[in-house]
Amino acid sequence: MQFIDLSSQQKRIRDKLESRIRTVLDHGQYIMGPEIGKLESALAAYTGTKCAVSCASGTDALLLALMSYGIGPRDAIITTPFTFFATAEAIALLGAVPVFVDIDPVTFNIDPVLIEMAIEAVAAGNPRVYPVPARALEGGLSVRGIISVDLFGLPADYNAIDTIARENGLFLIEDAAQSFGGECFGRKTGSLGDVGCTSFFPAKPLGCYGDGGMCFTSDNSIADKLRSFRVHGQGSDKYENVRIGINGRMDTIQAAVLLEKFEIFPEEILMRQEVAGRYTSLLRSDDSPVVCPGIPDGYLSAWAQYSVLAKEGVERPELLRRLKDAGIPTAVYYPKPLHFQEAFADLGYMEGDFPVSEQYAKRIFSLPMHPYLQAGDQERIASVLKGNSQ
Ligand SMILES: *Cc1c(COP(=O)(O)O)cnc(C)c1O
Repeated sequence: MQFIDLSSQQKRIRDKLESRIRTVLDHGQYIMGPEIGKLESALAAYTGTKCAVSCASGTDALLLALMSYGIGPRDAIITTPFTFFATAEAIALLGAVPVFVDIDPVTFNIDPVLIEMAIEAVAAGNPRVYPVPARALEGGLSVRGIISVDLFGLPADYNAIDTIARENGLFLIEDAAQSFGGECFGRKTGSLGDVGCTSFFPAKPLGCYGDGGMCFTSDNSIADKLRSFRVHGQGSDKYENVRIGINGRMDTIQAAVLLEKFEIFPEEILMRQEVAGRYTSLLRSDDSPVVCPGIPDGYLSAWAQYSVLAKEGVERPELLRRLKDAGIPTAVYYPKPLHFQEAFADLGYMEGDFPVSEQYAKRIFSLPMHPYLQAGDQERIASVLKGNSQ
């Protein structure tokens, strides 16, 4: 059994993938070839945004979005400590200060009520209102934006977060690296903030065969900046540089792979709903040692991961051992909240600052999840989890 099975998908479309890659080999435009524009148009239409700007990774997508808002050392950005490292790394790489806010215990996503408390704590220079990094209290530093993360594929609470962003004059970046294909009240992920950033890392819901990413926005002036920062701060002429940027383009071959995979992607999102639904009906029972993820009304998860919590009093290592002994792969996302990472030690956070993230880091784990997971395998996983030897 595989944790994420990419080979079943490849078998379905292998011939078409090869033909798309052959087309790139024939035209030879490896950088910014025609597939790039085609992919950007197709995915912008899918997400319901005006502009899509492809790039080299999800991390670059976040970096380009922050650069387009001119983020630097005098800025603070609010985000969650319960995410992949790259979310906060992009903030710190530009010299800005990540201000962490704990998660909602049901959705694992950033808690809007606590966002308001963190904004107030920075404005008042008072860490008793909410724990904030010492550097955010030194004065002269202001909260400029929010990066919300759609963890495991489930969109964050955009109705509330968007209102907070508007009321406080902040931009909202949606880290949709795990949620491409998800929805929040009928709107697709990628379109839920001012800029949506996604990743096409192979294991993400829509993955290529290497690294890739994309920014989505309906703000034309931000889109122009994203395109400029993506290629060395280029101006209107190729050899004119108007700002300091990066080399952050997507390879044409990756765009070709994505165009083909996108053909079956909407169907795969439906298949993921079925797989997740089966897990939930198998694992919701009283004899289950885990708490299943909760999807609020009005939301559709892209189910990048199916992550469960060991019930109170249940030892996670014991559950992981049972699964391992039965040959069932698992993963722990995330064993260490970002405020405990050595790279962020200078922020000065302490144990107890984000109790939900800290507790969940000890209880959470993820089960095999992909569109091609068979009902029989899921029944076996549930049975092994419940302690019935199989
Ligand atoms: C994967 C991921 C990223 C980074 O994407 P890459 O393409 O690997 O650079 C950023 N944020 C989150 C939440 C992710 O899961």
